[in-house]
Amino acid sequence: MHRNILPFIPYRFKGEAVACPVCSSHQHKTVARMDRRLKPLTTVMCEECGLFYSNPMPTADELATYYQKEYRKDYQLARFRPSNKHIRKKQNEAKARYAVIRQALTGNTLSLLDFGCGSGELVHECAMHGHDAHGFEPGATYASFAQQASHLKIDIRGTDYQSADYAAQHFDAITMLHVLEHIPNPIAALKKAHEWLKDDGILYIEVPNMQGYELKGFEHFHFAHVLGFSRDNLIEALRRAGFRVRSEIDGTSILAEKALGRECTAPIDLKATAAQNLHDYTAPISLYAYARYHLARLLRRLTRTQAKPAIPARSPSPAKDTGKLACPRL
Ligand SMILES: [Zn+2]
Repeated sequence: MHRNILPFIPYRFKGEAVACPVCSSHQHKTVARMDRRLKPLTTVMCEECGLFYSNPMPTADELATYYQKEYRKDYQLARFRPSNKHIRKKQNEAKARYAVIRQALTGNTLSLLDFGCGSGELVHECAMHGHDAHGFEPGATYASFAQQASHLKIDIRGTDYQSADYAAQHFDAITMLHVLEHIPNPIAALKKAHEWLKDDGILYIEVPNMQGYELKGFEHFHFAHVLGFSRDNLIEALRRAGFRVRSEIDGTSILAEKALGRECTAPIDLKATAAQNLHDYTAPISLYAYARYHLARLLRRLTRTQAKPAIPARSPSPAKDTGKLACPRL
């Protein structure tokens, strides 16, 4: 059995101490010393902006190796290709996400990039509608599957964002869907997207909402998610990379555009976010609450499996416990 799924055994990484990846503050509080698999993992929360992050943070080399070789089999038990269940789910999500892009942009043929495209369903969906669709994915298994899964000629690259080489101002839309929480330097990644996006383009970004869970605590930390965002610090990260909010879809699902000197008018309160997150994620969890939470999740999963909707609800409501949809574990 893979050592990464066994409880109590440490992950194989040394990491390094880092400042807050969003606001660069060194003021932080430790909120957890283990993750959802009951493995040792230290997560801290920035006292300035409320961002959760792994500290020590895995180094760039450690993460590159992990994503290239281990991530998918570790978290989705996918050794050679994504499961049919995963593909079906992603195809349904891709339809809903394409509708969001279509609503935001006019034009018959758009140039689109899925930043961290996984097994490529959104890229394929966009290409099927006649758009100039591109994507890249550092995980070797999924990148290879994405490249081969369509009869259309689609540019999908097996690379990370540092090595992805697109022309400046090339894309009408860039999607970053459940990607930024995996990246230790989110501002650098967002700046790359900013560079590749046209001045009148849109960035469609979505991350798990750490305030979106009914039960908060160590349960939501794990090695692959080196960052944990809330609405306000996600907007702050966008702002620092040169974006502003164009419209908010739901919690940490946002359509952004280049700021180009214009103010971001979305109101944020980073100190209040930090206070709320610290309170919520350091409160003790009773065994009863923990058991009730997991039983409810199991029942929801069983209900969903039986119902098999054609297009499941795409985006979680932060007011409800929809963590499963916000951050699919499979
Ligand atoms: Zn911070």
